[in-house]
Amino acid sequence: MAEGTHTAVACPETDAERRIVIVGGGYAGTTCAVTLGRRLKGRDDVEILLVEPDPCQQALSELDLVAVGPPRPQFCELWHPAVFRNLPVRTCYNRVTAIHPDEHTVTVGDGQVVPYWRLVVASGAVPVVPPVPGLRERAITMWSVEDAQELQRQGEAAFKHAARLSSAEERRRTLSFTVVGGGATGVEIVGTMGQLLPKRMLDAGLDPNDLQVNLVEGRPGILYDLHEPQRDKAVRKLEAMGVTVHTGSMVDHVEDDAIVLASGARINSTVLVWCGGAKADPHAAEWGFEMDASHRLVTEIDLKALGHEDAYIIGDVASFRNPKKNNILPMLAQMAIQQGPHVANNLMRELDGRPTESFIPHMRGEFVSVGPSWGVGWMYGVSLTGLPAIVMKRITYVKYWLQVGGIPLAWKRTREMLAMQR
Ligand SMILES: Cc1cc2nc3c(=O)[nH]c(=O)nc-3n(C[C@H](O)[C@H](O)[C@H](O)COP(=O)(O)OP(=O)(O)OC[C@H]3O[C@@H](n4cnc5c(N)ncnc54)[C@H](O)[C@@H]3O)c2cc1C
Repeated sequence: MAEGTHTAVACPETDAERRIVIVGGGYAGTTCAVTLGRRLKGRDDVEILLVEPDPCQQALSELDLVAVGPPRPQFCELWHPAVFRNLPVRTCYNRVTAIHPDEHTVTVGDGQVVPYWRLVVASGAVPVVPPVPGLRERAITMWSVEDAQELQRQGEAAFKHAARLSSAEERRRTLSFTVVGGGATGVEIVGTMGQLLPKRMLDAGLDPNDLQVNLVEGRPGILYDLHEPQRDKAVRKLEAMGVTVHTGSMVDHVEDDAIVLASGARINSTVLVWCGGAKADPHAAEWGFEMDASHRLVTEIDLKALGHEDAYIIGDVASFRNPKKNNILPMLAQMAIQQGPHVANNLMRELDGRPTESFIPHMRGEFVSVGPSWGVGWMYGVSLTGLPAIVMKRITYVKYWLQVGGIPLAWKRTREMLAMQR
């Protein structure tokens, strides 16, 4: 098989007897393709075809590093042509528009029908934006490098507008930034704002005292996945950075320069970021697989789609019930990057005529950055706060780069990351 064959929008023809089609090149799809590519090097009887519209993987868990600066959000893009350069993985930069499990085919783009021997669905999730008046029109979601660029653009525009204003009150209204959603994503983004925006204002000659940064969470507290002492520390850290934390009231509606809570409170907000949750890729609901109540696709214990022998489901789009805890796995990169290689391993077993193995998830820890140089979280049951937590979080990035690109990629990106944090 040709190594690293890349096509724009049409899938390449193949002579291989068996084709494995991977739908989606995020954390789950990329780790699956890389692992399979390494194991299938030199074999001509199997083709690995990754279908993904974007030639760069959006490394979403790294977005906190770049949300408001330094102005290099592209850091969070991992180029597939570089990752697959020396691997027998063919890529097709297009979207799967339909899957026909009974016919063992996918439709790509406008109508190219591609048969498969095995299918791996890894199409991820999308942000949920509820029908709150004014929200969809005015809020930025935080789901891609493009979103981070939009946040940077709106921040710059607010700085420039404020620089022209003589009234301190008007400047304060203009320089008001709000993040809605006190889960890990919202806290990471608002923490980056709290730490970096004052520095960027000083660089621009603006007075950081004019800045207002708010975090709004409808529930009584933030970071519900962590223990209470960790949550309290995160709130204290945010407040020390100058972030005002509003809890216990939902957003009622959004106006041009403010959000209004159900409690009646009005919060100035020129730049608004929505981090209010995610749902499985909505297109996956049309692909003929069994879904759970939250529209994630239900898997068997070996990650095959329920009732389908030749299709696997992995990552955020998958509803996998952890038999040890009897819970559905959360939407986390650390689950996706365990599932991708596990399915690659099961595919190798199938190719060798051996039975597949059950997936056993390992939740080794969880870290949330509160600003680029401080964090909270836990690992193997031990709570960590401050520098140790942020170091552990950054080590998870390095481990991922090692997993998909080996030492050269990990070394290159670690140096870039350290340079950005200075
Ligand atoms: C801001 C942010 C911070 C986060 N931080 C963390 C963290 O610190 N730790 C952690 O564990 N998790 C974190 N997460 C969650 C983590 O990013 C997700 O769990 C992870 O991305 C899931 O991987 P995935 O491969 O399932 O989906 P994704 O990474 O979203 O990839 C899905 C891919 O499928 C492609 N696709 C979709 N539809 C189609 C189609 N029809 N045809 C072809 N391709 C398609 C998309 O273009 C995309 O590239 C964070 C998420 C966000 C948004």
